[in-house]
Amino acid sequence: MQQPFAYRDNRMHAEDVPLDSIARRAGTPCFVYSSNAILGRYHAYDRAFGDAPHRICYAVKANGNLAILSLLAGAGAGFDIVSGGELFRVLRAGGAADKVVFAGVGKTAEEVEYALEHGIHSFSCESEAELSLIDALASRLGTKARVSLRVNPDVDAVTHPKISTGLREHKFGIDIQAAEEIYARARWHSHIQMEGVSCHIGSQLLRAGPLLAALDRVLALVDRLREKGIPIQELDLGGGLGIPYRPTDEAPSIEDYVAQVKNRVAGRNLTLLMEPGRSLVGEAGVLLSRVLYRKTNAGKEFVILDAAMNDLIRPSLYEAHHEILPVKRDPSRGTVKADVVGPVCETGDYLARDRELANVLPGDLVAISTAGAYGFVMSSNYNARPRAAEVMVAGDGWRIVRQRETFDDIIRGEMA
Ligand SMILES: *Cc1c(COP(=O)(O)O)cnc(C)c1O
Repeated sequence: MQQPFAYRDNRMHAEDVPLDSIARRAGTPCFVYSSNAILGRYHAYDRAFGDAPHRICYAVKANGNLAILSLLAGAGAGFDIVSGGELFRVLRAGGAADKVVFAGVGKTAEEVEYALEHGIHSFSCESEAELSLIDALASRLGTKARVSLRVNPDVDAVTHPKISTGLREHKFGIDIQAAEEIYARARWHSHIQMEGVSCHIGSQLLRAGPLLAALDRVLALVDRLREKGIPIQELDLGGGLGIPYRPTDEAPSIEDYVAQVKNRVAGRNLTLLMEPGRSLVGEAGVLLSRVLYRKTNAGKEFVILDAAMNDLIRPSLYEAHHEILPVKRDPSRGTVKADVVGPVCETGDYLARDRELANVLPGDLVAISTAGAYGFVMSSNYNARPRAAEVMVAGDGWRIVRQRETFDDIIRGEMA
């Protein structure tokens, strides 16, 4: 699928469905996902590996909606989780526990037990203390845990500081220098099987260079470990491949990236895992919103939407750019330079600043592009705003895959 969201007769469609018809029935704000775009990206990864042993483990944290998880589970994907809650989601969506890898610096004993009970594929362990905990809990449950150490290759991911994770001073992983000794000591843990090495250096990488540099360092570690008689069988490269948010962004293609990885690993008899999140779902989603008002303050123009930072926090959190396009295109209207803001009571509540966009008017619909990853999952009830509905499109059909929250949903569990 080339463009999941494109204009036909000046009406923006999601696959074969006009977005205005979705807005009319599902309301706004509302996330709209293209199932064929998600599957297309998954198959691009899978096909690029060909018959090299591999598994694509979708990073659930990018978008954990059950419909997306079940779509990917059906296509054969594994899953990368970072919490017990994400494992619960995967199991509910019909994902196979034995294709799940569990990362994260702060796994609790309850989470480790839950994962062991369900027989997940492996833990990406991020400290020696965690290794001891996994060993003790596996022993108690009479099982053996497969573990890889998440090493920190000390490579600069060249991305936004808040989503860079691969430098020595970051909280993630284990210093690659120290890892060798930890692997050697781990042999004394009788309920742990050290099968793999993993790394994840950051997110939204627009160049493959740092990913490949990390791979080289990790491969050198695999070779050293094997020389010492530690039989590493798996290499997990994490996620991180970037996507174009601006029309001028150029992201590495999945095919080129995987081809380069395959070349470097060839002949080593290693199973390769990848944990893409953003690059599977980011471009497959938009946030559909309606213009509430226009106004001018001190000569500055504002477009006020019904979507806000509680729905999509990336602009406020990371200064992220999302294209904002009119759902009905009318070139005769011209453009306007404005701040695009939501109703939340924070000056930081904006979706775009000083943006030249179509001259949209109250009542018009806009599509906030590239909102499929780290959109809904980072949304909140701030200002007691119900979280948005989510819709999945397939061809000319669509369905609501998460109801818009009600006021009652917002106060569930509270006691006056
Ligand atoms: C966030 C994360 C991913 C996914 O990253 P993307 O940039 O969305 O591909 C993969 N693995 C781990 C361990 C992560 O923390």
